[in-house]
Amino acid sequence: MQTTITSSPEEAAAILNSGGVVAFPTETVYGLGASICHPQAISQIFKAKGRPGDNPLIVHIYNIEQLAAVADEINGDAKRLIEHFFPGPLTLVLKKNPRVPDTVTAGLQTVGIRCPLNPVAREFLRLCDCPVAAPSANLSGLPSATSWEAVYEDLDGKIDCVLRGTPSAIGLESTIVDCSGSQPLLLRAGAITLEQLQAIVPAIATEAPTDKEAPPKSPGLKYPHYAPKAAIVLCHAHEKMVIEPSSAYIGLSEPPQGVSLLKLCNSLEEYGRELFSFFRHCDANGVHIIYCELPSDEGLGRAIRDRLMRAAEKK
Ligand code: AMP
Ligand code: MG
Repeated sequence: MQTTITSSPEEAAAILNSGGVVAFPTETVYGLGASICHPQAISQIFKAKGRPGDNPLIVHIYNIEQLAAVADEINGDAKRLIEHFFPGPLTLVLKKNPRVPDTVTAGLQTVGIRCPLNPVAREFLRLCDCPVAAPSANLSGLPSATSWEAVYEDLDGKIDCVLRGTPSAIGLESTIVDCSGSQPLLLRAGAITLEQLQAIVPAIATEAPTDKEAPPKSPGLKYPHYAPKAAIVLCHAHEKMVIEPSSAYIGLSEPPQGVSLLKLCNSLEEYGRELFSFFRHCDANGVHIIYCELPSDEGLGRAIRDRLMRAAEKK
C-alpha cells in the first residue's frame, strides 16, 4: 500500500471519507483514524497496528453536537466533565449508541469518546463525514508516536495517509474516565490530572471495587505498552547506581555519571512531552538500558509514572 503524506486536512479527510486509514496529529499523541461508518477501515486499523481485537478504540468527535451520535445516557458527572474539559486531552467512557459498530468497542456496550483541541485535528475532524475511531498511531506495544516521522517509521506502507502536523504538545495519551457506571472511575492518568478532575467531580475513584470475576474495565490495560527495545530501569532522584555501558537517562534530577544519552527535563510537562520520542531516539542509537527517574504521583507525575511502570513491566 502506498502511504500518502500530506499537510492538507482536506486531502486527509477525503481519503478517510472514502474508507481509508489516516494518521493525524493531536495534542496528546498521533492518532490512527478510520470512519466509524466504514467497518472495513476499522478492521484495517487493527491489522496495521497488530492490535488485539479485544482492545477498543476511542471515538473522536469534532464538537459536542456529535456526542449524541455516539453516546447514550450522559449523566450529570459526564456533563460537568464535558463542560470543563472538552475539547481537550480527556476521554470519557459512556454507554454506547447502537450506531457505533461493535468492532470499535471490541463488543463492549460502552464507548470511549474524545474531542481533541489541536487545530489541525479539529479541522480534519470537521471535514470527516462521521466520527473517527482512532487508537494511537504506533505499532502495538511500542511507544506512542508523538511526531509524524515516528508514525511513518512504524506504519509506512500499512496505512493510506499521514496528515503531517507539529510534534504533540502533551506527548502522553489522554486521561480516561469511565462515567458509564454509578461510580466515576479514572482508568488512565493523563494531562488532565486527578486533582483537576476531582475539583469538578469529587467522587472520581482511582480503583474499581475489587471483584476478581469482573472483566478488566479497560481491556487495553492488560497488554504490554509503551515499551522501547531497550530495557527500562526505574530510579529515584540522586540514587547511586552502577551504570551499564550503552545506557541513557531521562528525568528531572542530575543524571548519573557515565550514561551515553541524556534528557534532563526542566518540568513534568517537558518530561511527559519528551518521554516517547526519547525512547524512540534511544532505540535508534542502539541504547541497551534507559534509566528513568520516577516522579511522585502528584499532578502530571501520575501519568508519567504510569507509562514508565508499564514500559518497565514488559521485560
Ligand atoms: P489508545 O488509543 O491506543 O491509547 O488505546 C485506547 C485505550 O482506551 C485502551 O487502553 C482501551 O482499552 C481504552 N478504551 C477504549 N474504549 C474503552 C471503553 N469503552 N471502556 C474502557 N476502556 C476503553
Ligand atoms: Mg496505544
